[in-house]
Amino acid sequence: MRKTILLVVAILCLGLAAAGPAAAQASPVIQDLVIQIWPEYDQPAALVIYDFRVAQESLPATIKIRVPQNGDIFAVAKSTSQGLMNEPYEPPVLEGEYDVLTLNISEAVFYRVEYYAPLERNGIMRLYRLNWPGDYAVGTLQVLVQKAVGARNLQTLPALSELPGPDGFIYAQGEFKDLPAGEAFNLTLQYEKDDERLSAADQPPAAMPGIEQAQGSTMSLTQALPYLAGGLGLILVVGSLFLYWQSGRNRQARREAPRKRHTVATRQPDGQVYCSQCGKRAADSDRFCRDCGARLRRD
Ligand SMILES: [Zn+2]
Repeated sequence: MRKTILLVVAILCLGLAAAGPAAAQASPVIQDLVIQIWPEYDQPAALVIYDFRVAQESLPATIKIRVPQNGDIFAVAKSTSQGLMNEPYEPPVLEGEYDVLTLNISEAVFYRVEYYAPLERNGIMRLYRLNWPGDYAVGTLQVLVQKAVGARNLQTLPALSELPGPDGFIYAQGEFKDLPAGEAFNLTLQYEKDDERLSAADQPPAAMPGIEQAQGSTMSLTQALPYLAGGLGLILVVGSLFLYWQSGRNRQARREAPRKRHTVATRQPDGQVYCSQCGKRAADSDRFCRDCGARLRRD
């Protein structure tokens, strides 16, 4: 009898010991997720940008980002004190209708995945359907759809409100809270556009105001109200992301003639890749400049 009790206790102890680490490895939570869609920005496709931060208590975590198979993964990066750094990653693995990127996350900082996905076109109509498969619970999701230069009648489902962004573009934006794991987030956008011009090829629609201007003097109270209604979170998360990710680009852009910034070829005739913003040489696999954080153009 005593032996049996000892055995039961031993089994219980083993069970508890096994349950400990298993509980700590519960499905990771993404605290903040920002999904940006930039249709016809620098390619005729839609540039989709995921910026996500894993909750501190979920770390370290292995995160699988599923990108629809028609998406062309362009970059994986991580924010550091030096700016945006290329994050090494294994080639995506095809699983069902998705390319799956596996990332080992050790810090509660923003990681970025960028991909291009084709727009559906019908005459002047453009349509794009975003699918975030929702593998993880998300605390706050911010969605921003950049209005392509020359686009009319931008409509989204769910409906978003159009607001000027700090970079001079108009963004349809919205905030969603507490998405449970296993619940996909889908968004459909459509608009009309008469030409094939790309937004990045144009002068920026406004003179690229700094973020302090966008939140201050240039924005009327009426424009600011949705920001205020959205709470400080929207300003802080989106604002800091804009500031963070685009500061390199904007800062560098102001240093040069605006027209020049999109025409400097990244790949030189000698086959080497150089940053078009600061001129530093980049490794062939780099998507962002190691020196200034600017996004390297691939033509
Ligand atoms: Zn650079």
